[in-house]
Amino acid sequence: MAQVAMVMNLDKCIGCHTCSVTCKQTWTNRRGTEYAWFNNVETRPGQGYPRRHEDQEKWKGGWRLDARGRLVPRAGGRARRLARLFANPELPALDDYYEPWTYDYDTLISAPLGDDLPTARPRSLIDGRPTAVTGGPNWDDDLGGGPDHLAGDPVLQRLNERVRLEYEQAFMFHLPRICEHCLHPTCVAVCPSGALYKRIEDGIVLVDQDRCRGWRMCVSGCPYKKVYFNHATGKAEKCTFCYPRIEAGEPTVCSETCVGRLRYLGVMLYDADKVGEAAAVPDERDLYEAQLGCFLDPEDPAVVRAAEATGIPHDWITAARRSPVRDLISTYRIALPLHPEYRTLPMVWYVPPLSPVVDALTRDGHDGEDPAALFGAIDTLRIPLSYLAGLFTAGDTAPVEAALCRLAAMRAHMRRLNLGEDRDPAIAHGVGMTES
Ligand code: SF4
Ligand code: SF4
Repeated sequence: MAQVAMVMNLDKCIGCHTCSVTCKQTWTNRRGTEYAWFNNVETRPGQGYPRRHEDQEKWKGGWRLDARGRLVPRAGGRARRLARLFANPELPALDDYYEPWTYDYDTLISAPLGDDLPTARPRSLIDGRPTAVTGGPNWDDDLGGGPDHLAGDPVLQRLNERVRLEYEQAFMFHLPRICEHCLHPTCVAVCPSGALYKRIEDGIVLVDQDRCRGWRMCVSGCPYKKVYFNHATGKAEKCTFCYPRIEAGEPTVCSETCVGRLRYLGVMLYDADKVGEAAAVPDERDLYEAQLGCFLDPEDPAVVRAAEATGIPHDWITAARRSPVRDLISTYRIALPLHPEYRTLPMVWYVPPLSPVVDALTRDGHDGEDPAALFGAIDTLRIPLSYLAGLFTAGDTAPVEAALCRLAAMRAHMRRLNLGEDRDPAIAHGVGMTES
């Protein structure tokens, strides 16, 4: 099977939200979807959007995959009691998103003469009444986090139980998120109307608006909380991976408009027969490797023959061969999946941020670009390894450490080339890369 996929390089994200705004203008600039952001950019560590969406305990009424990869209601949750009735389990409330607002620009010209400049006051986009802005799609906009911050948040505490930082070592980075177009999507599995489906030709997950009956099982069933309910139409909506653009050979809107040029698009070939088994590996720390094991090598003639036999167009196989996503995920292993422990086998992966590593090294007097120094300093990263592992590898720090070391090696290698210096084979050797 073929799957379009995206890799985002987090070192390059500046949190400008251009991707979110252009996505919104394209897809959700309508009544009923005022609060919905198919693409949002979160500040980490933080609550995310909707708030605390990573706290899977909070959505107790939701669903989980059992050890055999079947979707079942969570034990003791409302879903177990209500599933038979097809009543909906726990849903995020408007407060978990935010009350969308606009500004009362009339006050700028109608305000009486005063000592201060008139202010455009916020008012609710839904009922037009004046409102206090208490949050938004980036609840923790540009705030750093440290131990006190984490102490007040049980979700972050769980994700970061090994984090022991002083506030002067607070850290932050931006995490852009879209629907993961999972290989094993819970949203598709829970829909009682069969409205959600995964396209065979490219793996994009869509909602059939004619079939949707507004059960909202997909909203509660998606562990990434990336399905939204349109309160005007009574239907579910979600990121479409800009499929009309993909079909025309164009990138998604968020990719094309990304200021940091950090979104890589490509095609991955995968073995559909391995998906269920991979999603059900007993130890969640094995899920990263299990998902890697689903991907096929498009250079392998046997894979190409099998792909052609299933009707995958030759163009897509060629695209899979040239895919930067494949290089980042499988060849160099510097991209990692977001929350693999959700067991949906997500297909939007991330290159973890490296810059703070360089920071830590230079403080110690090392050459921050020297990857050899990284091996001794990996425990003193500004962004704790355990935090990144909590996001990307279900707590296993080894794959994150390996990815960061390779990134440092690539950076050092490119610097040498740019300065006209000789290549250093030790750099490649030290991080387990071939010299080529
Ligand atoms: Fe479905 Fe959620 Fe996965 Fe998107 S991220 S495919 S909405 S389960
Ligand atoms: Fe980050 Fe690019 Fe979005 Fe700006 S446009 S917030 S750089 S992903």
